[in-house]
Amino acid sequence: MEFESKIEKVFPRINDVQKKALGKIGIKKTEDLLYYFPSRYSNTDELKNTKNVKKGDKIILYAKVKRIKATKAYYKKIPMTEATLEDSEGILPAVWFRQPYISKMLSEGTFAKFSGTISERNGRPYLANPEYEITNDIPTGLFKNKGGDNFIYPIYSESKGVSSQWIQYAIKKILNSKILDEIKDPIPEEILKKYNLPKLKTALIWIHSPKKESDALSAKKRFAFEEIFFIQVLRQKQKQEAKQKPSFKIKKTKTEIKTFIKNFPFKLTLSQEKSINTILEDFEKNYAMSRLLEGDVGSGKTAVAATTSYAIVSTKPNGSNVGNLQVAYMAPTEILAKQLYDSFIQYFENMNINIGLITSKSCRKFPSKINPKEWTDISKTQLLKWVENGEIPILIGTHSLIQKNVAFKDLAYVIIDEQHKFGTNQRRDITKKNERIPHLLSMTATPIPRTLALTIYGDLDLTLLDEMPKGRKPVTTEIITPEKRDETYEEIRNELEKGRQLYVICPRIDEPDPKKEFALRVKSVKAEAEKIKKQIFPEYNIDIMHSKMTPKEKDTVMKKFENGETNILVSTSVIEVGVNVPNATMIIIEGADRFGLAQLHQLRGRVLRSNHQAYCFVFSDSKSEQTINRLKALKTAKNGFELSEQDLMLRGAGELSGKKQWGISDIGMEAIKNIKMVEVARTEALEIIREDFELKKYPLIAERLEDIETHFE
Ligand code: ADP
Ligand code: MG
Repeated sequence: MEFESKIEKVFPRINDVQKKALGKIGIKKTEDLLYYFPSRYSNTDELKNTKNVKKGDKIILYAKVKRIKATKAYYKKIPMTEATLEDSEGILPAVWFRQPYISKMLSEGTFAKFSGTISERNGRPYLANPEYEITNDIPTGLFKNKGGDNFIYPIYSESKGVSSQWIQYAIKKILNSKILDEIKDPIPEEILKKYNLPKLKTALIWIHSPKKESDALSAKKRFAFEEIFFIQVLRQKQKQEAKQKPSFKIKKTKTEIKTFIKNFPFKLTLSQEKSINTILEDFEKNYAMSRLLEGDVGSGKTAVAATTSYAIVSTKPNGSNVGNLQVAYMAPTEILAKQLYDSFIQYFENMNINIGLITSKSCRKFPSKINPKEWTDISKTQLLKWVENGEIPILIGTHSLIQKNVAFKDLAYVIIDEQHKFGTNQRRDITKKNERIPHLLSMTATPIPRTLALTIYGDLDLTLLDEMPKGRKPVTTEIITPEKRDETYEEIRNELEKGRQLYVICPRIDEPDPKKEFALRVKSVKAEAEKIKKQIFPEYNIDIMHSKMTPKEKDTVMKKFENGETNILVSTSVIEVGVNVPNATMIIIEGADRFGLAQLHQLRGRVLRSNHQAYCFVFSDSKSEQTINRLKALKTAKNGFELSEQDLMLRGAGELSGKKQWGISDIGMEAIKNIKMVEVARTEALEIIREDFELKKYPLIAERLEDIETHFE
């Protein structure tokens, strides 16, 4: 057996279904299995039979469904499923409230594993809302231990066809082979010693078959550190590398910049001015800027982008006295790209600068030949030609910007809006194409915790735009419980009458398929729009928007909303990013408990666009005090960063939006909660790069970095 051995070689008895199931959870080789960590640990304490259970016990029970039917609780007419579970020791009732469909999913005679908490009714215990999993393998090994000390065992996330027990057995087999003796630890021993972390071999054993809980914790800590450490080394290395390559040195006078700033219909905030200056100073250096501009929604990032773009396009390419250096500005969605395009046209009016737009569906050029105040549609071929020969100095677009066929003449500046929506490598791709590295500005309104920023954006310098334009009133935020719904609608009607507009955000697009009974019961865009039209605001125009519409449809909807034809826009969270309609001053968020605080804050940012009083109504049907309290943080937190920290602590790293893009595992995300660990990993990474930038002394680290780089693709 070797690390690279195919799984079906090591376990010749697995069938195709299992093989496919393993593939689904990323297991193809021995090594993958070894790095498939338990999602949690269980204790033989929790394994129970139907006898000897008492109220409050958290149990796991292997039992047969003796009887099962859908019923209604007589007092409140709550639909539910009632069952009787049977094992060798006796019987135990189970109840699933509000889940009558379970009666159809589990039939009499089925054998399953149930896990849940024991409740009591009339002094008799029953299992309340247990999770279940149909299975035929009883973990006999576990029962054999009867009478012995209780012990912990790993639970793995399962995939249809492979059970946690199977994974446990397979990993045991690997651990018992000689394979671990060959394993080399990529983390230098001094570091492990310094922070009291187990060696790789020990950690692998401890994570899969810990003798005690502290072993499992220690192992987890090691792997968490390892993941953050390698990302940090990679980022520090990239940062060093970038400094070795030539870029575009640009120097502008204050007066030149001032002439451009005069074009804005507002006075820049101090924070905007500072950010602009920092960037202009970066432009004067010998290597490319890599900077992250973090600013809450509405803090005015576009003006910073535009001013610094002006510095670039008003500069002539090296050794030439004609033409302009070029700017590429990438946005995550078509809607946003078009809005940015319009803003840029406004800011660059009379500047005699051509601005192009490229999305997957259309291309535009400003100004048009016929009307110098307007843009015109042009063909992609034509646009690409003008970009390539330098006639279009500013190109704004979506992902289409980074396609192979887009070539610039003198690309000197790349701006990426809403950075977190793009993978790290996409950001690098766009800057990598050229011999001379363009300056890079990443902008984000997504408040992310500092530990996470230090890790994933470790190669970027950070600037905060932490001041809102003057005159903005803070959004009045209310947490609306069901009994206050009607009066809230009346409050909203008052504002609609004054001509303001309203967003209604729902968690899903369609009503759930009635056949899919596990579907979430939350409001859908389509049904809610119908209801609002018929029952709540029949006198107003209502439109909908969601991700399944074509760009053209979205465009039309957005236009009508922008020019006020539509009063109410019912949408999913697609409008989250960057949409800018100043007259829309109200937002209702339905099913708010489904969103993270930072995401709610983002959504609320949609109405922070003007000097009218804005309102955010956070609707929650939750009866849990904890949930309501969590939502109340929206009223008290000073800014988005504070909220993101709260998300991290209250709901865990999994709730941070954009998690998938970051390519960090669940274990790594745990480390993100721990500022000390992140700082330590960063210090050690910096140390290594400072000492040996090419990693000549650390071949194992170099090898690992290559893996990580492909992983972030
Ligand atoms: P974001 O940081 O969310 O991208 P935008 O750049 O879209 O914010 O700006 C939000 C709104 O604020 C826009 O309508 C813009 O014209 C306006 N704005 C930007 N800077 C200022 C300022 N200094 N004073 C007043 N309004 C401003
Ligand atoms: Mg923006």
